[in-house]
Amino acid sequence: MITHIKFIIIVTNFIYEIGHKFIQSSLILLNILLTMNMSITPELLVSSVEQIGFVNDPVDPRLDLYEEIKSLKREKNAILLAHYYQEPAIQDVADFIGDSLGLSRQAAATSADIIVFAGVHFMAETAKILSPDKKVILPDLNAGCSLADTCPADEFQEFCDRHPDHLVMSYINCSAAVKARSDIICTSTNAEHLMRMIPESQPVIFAPDRNLGRWLERTTKRKLKIWDGVCIVHETFSERKLLSLKVEYPSAKILAHPECEESVLRHADYIGSTSGIRKFAREDEGTSFIIATEEGILHQMRKDSPDKHFIPAPPESGCNCSQCPHMRLNTLEKLYNCINHELPEIAMEESIRRRALKPIERMIEMSEGVS
Ligand code: SF4
Repeated sequence: MITHIKFIIIVTNFIYEIGHKFIQSSLILLNILLTMNMSITPELLVSSVEQIGFVNDPVDPRLDLYEEIKSLKREKNAILLAHYYQEPAIQDVADFIGDSLGLSRQAAATSADIIVFAGVHFMAETAKILSPDKKVILPDLNAGCSLADTCPADEFQEFCDRHPDHLVMSYINCSAAVKARSDIICTSTNAEHLMRMIPESQPVIFAPDRNLGRWLERTTKRKLKIWDGVCIVHETFSERKLLSLKVEYPSAKILAHPECEESVLRHADYIGSTSGIRKFAREDEGTSFIIATEEGILHQMRKDSPDKHFIPAPPESGCNCSQCPHMRLNTLEKLYNCINHELPEIAMEESIRRRALKPIERMIEMSEGVS
């Protein structure tokens, strides 16, 4: 009798073990299938991008992302534009590297089907404004701009409406809706040139960067009505620390972006756009330079002139504030996912796009020959 009971217990346990293992294996398989489905279902990808702003598809760490991105670009007839403030690895895989004006011209001239914009949101929007028939994608929709954010379109509209006799010049670092309310767009490369082309009798609103606006007032000797916006990167450079750096490196020339505050600009040997700063350092006979703009530009400057010494200007606190937190949201992994899945895509209302196009076209027309 006892032998029979033992036999029944052993058989029951055996069946239980088999059944348990079967259920476990089925669950694991189901999970794998679900995970595979989640990574390939376009609807799931789109909804995840809507929620978090980028494609969060795990990237195999063994992939050579540089080669993968190059091959995806070829396969999809995509062009990759990278701003100077992107991390070096992204700059190295880009087809064009530049600042706002150079990249917006590249965007307009390209015959690619897809424009991948490794930069911030307003830059990708500008590419879309210029190339409505192309798909424009950005690695991370959260890559905004503190300067553009200081100028909400509705408040700007009211401000302009209070000064109806003023011509509205806006720096390209603003939203499509702000561009749509502007008469002319400018960049830091051509702002002074364009301002000088406007008759002195014409009152002008300048937005959104107050430091660039004040610098334009000083260089063109005209009074402007300036919107009170500021870039969190350029406003943090410290005059005090800049001067102690100058004591340490007395022969170093200071090259500064006009988005910096006047307290920094007054010590500069050269003031200009990011492209202008790069060109100056390449062509100047000096061998050491203190650079007061986002430090991503140092990558190209060191490649241009490996024998020269480039020192990033220090921010007031000991933080990493000379790196733009918005620009640095883009990573090689997000870029790879972005090209691979062609997401996130930039979309905009056609009426805004058409109105925003006019002042950009005016800028391109009036700045021919400015480099
Ligand atoms: S560096 Fe300043 S202006 Fe440029 S994207 Fe970043 S926050 Fe905007």
